[in-house]
Amino acid sequence: MQTRLTTLYQLQIIDDQLDELEELRGDLPRAVNELISQIQSIADQIEAKELEKQNSLDKRKDNDEEVERLQNSLKKFKAQLYQVRNNKEYDALTKEIDHTEERINKLETENLAIEDLAEKIKNEIKELNPNLEELKTELKEKEAELKKIIKSNEREEAKLKEQREKYTSQIKKNDYNTYMRIRKALGGKAIAVVVRSACSGCFNIVPPQRQIEIRQNKRMYTCESCGRLLVSSNIADSAREDI
Ligand SMILES: [Zn+2]
Repeated sequence: MQTRLTTLYQLQIIDDQLDELEELRGDLPRAVNELISQIQSIADQIEAKELEKQNSLDKRKDNDEEVERLQNSLKKFKAQLYQVRNNKEYDALTKEIDHTEERINKLETENLAIEDLAEKIKNEIKELNPNLEELKTELKEKEAELKKIIKSNEREEAKLKEQREKYTSQIKKNDYNTYMRIRKALGGKAIAVVVRSACSGCFNIVPPQRQIEIRQNKRMYTCESCGRLLVSSNIADSAREDI
């Protein structure tokens, strides 16, 4: 049991050092991720607007073709006006002409609106672009900064990770899972030491009887207040000596 507790404590020592390296990176990893998602979001907006613009322009082209077709018909109808034989034919033809002119009018009005819309979209895209470039520059800077920090600790981190693996392989799966669960829940140290009758994690007094039991290193105990695993200072000392 003593070895089990010591190895767990050694794992914590390594994890503390890895946490310190992580802390050196500060806010950078989060900032980088934030920038990446902001850039993605703007790129998506631009893409959607480009598509909307393209659809408008396609529609305008269709309308132009339709107008051309209608104008040909109109020419034909107007030529036919000279050949009508009676009022009925004349009325029918002028009706066709009116109708066609109306259609042309409608399509041309629609095209004006489409042009306005396309212009509006174009401006919106233009406004988004500098923002995008700015964020990309910022991302590049932050990534470079982060890379620099990671690079400067690369060797130390690799060594710690290697040590971590060594200890992890010596720890029972259940113990490891317990350790990781507490570590995750508390966002840091999973093991506390009984120092001057108190838990070093939450500083609450550990009951005297429990202190005696912990000192015997025969079982795994957790702090009733904070839930951390509790070990004696003997365990902590021998873990430190042997790392
Ligand atoms: Zn505690």
